[in-house]
Amino acid sequence: MKRRIDDVSSSEEKSGRKRKKKRRIHKCSSSEEIKMEGRKRPRESENSATSERGSELKRPRVEEELPLPVAISNCTIHAELGSGTYGRVWLVSLQDRIQHMAIKVIKKSNTNTSNNITEARVLKTAAGCPYLCSAYGSFQTQGHVLHAMEYVSGGTLWSVIKNSVRLENDLVRFYAAELVCGLQFLHSNGIIHRDLKPSNVLVTNEGHIKIADFGLAAEGIFGNKKIRGRKGTPAFMAPEMLKKEKYNTGIDWWSLGITICKMASGTLPFKEGKAECRPSILLAEPCFPEWFSAELQDLLQRLLKKDPKERLGLNGNIREHPFFNTIDWVQLESQNVPPPSQPVAVST
Ligand code: ADP
Ligand code: MG
Repeated sequence: MKRRIDDVSSSEEKSGRKRKKKRRIHKCSSSEEIKMEGRKRPRESENSATSERGSELKRPRVEEELPLPVAISNCTIHAELGSGTYGRVWLVSLQDRIQHMAIKVIKKSNTNTSNNITEARVLKTAAGCPYLCSAYGSFQTQGHVLHAMEYVSGGTLWSVIKNSVRLENDLVRFYAAELVCGLQFLHSNGIIHRDLKPSNVLVTNEGHIKIADFGLAAEGIFGNKKIRGRKGTPAFMAPEMLKKEKYNTGIDWWSLGITICKMASGTLPFKEGKAECRPSILLAEPCFPEWFSAELQDLLQRLLKKDPKERLGLNGNIREHPFFNTIDWVQLESQNVPPPSQPVAVST
């Protein structure tokens, strides 16, 4: 038996029909079947206005075209898009539909239920921001959780950096500004990402970014609330998390600083080795190439403040930092700023 844990059917949105937005659990007969929304319109009741006016006024009933239930047998799996610590992501298309989607499959034995439910919920919230990767729906079988997400075809930011060693200044600024919008949207919804790094950032075909992988996210972080818990990737972890102290959204601003440094130089500002990473982050000053512009150096110094209370993002408006002087934030928010370059196509 499998149960569906949540759903956001894109076909439902397109049909424009209103339906109660309520979490439902569907039981499906086949163990590998994925059901999406698609129900027949109920027959008009005998008491409806049409039937009251007599049979001669009845219009012939036109069958509404409805989306079919989606079963694995209707899906074509084209390729593996990538894998991480928790899931494998597949490029999938559905019969009769041109659009592809990315399905992330997570073994339940590799994660815990609350992480999976959080990921499903954040993927749904993500639909409100163009700089976050969102899902059409999330499902579960007895052994797996599946998130059916929008397919982002330009690869990861990690692969973009790897392909060109380091990125041009304009591209760094553009990606960093879109990351700021994505993070601020998450934070304003009480969500901390907790694992921001280049392999969890996707690049669209047009060259915009989308923050992905909400498997370690924390929810409900509003106001002065802080939480504990060591999650994420050590080289991108803020000092307060490494020290097992309580933290808030400040940890994402730290990870943004590390990510920007990686984009701009291809290297990290602290030592990466397993044994050296923690002491370096806790005690050493960040190290940047001398050819970084003064604005970029200043931005990174402020994002990488060891005391979260002094860190840019929590302390001060990052959008007003001189590094972002040329960014029109209003246009950027609505994805109206053309990307400086497109990613090189990845064959899948
Ligand atoms: P994990 O939680 O295991 O780290 P991720 O969500 O980070 O899994 O996904 C692993 C990899 O799959 C990513 O690094 C990326 O290469 C690929 N991927 C994830 N989501 C998508 C997507 N929506 N479109 C295209 N590729 C994706
Ligand atoms: Mg990941």
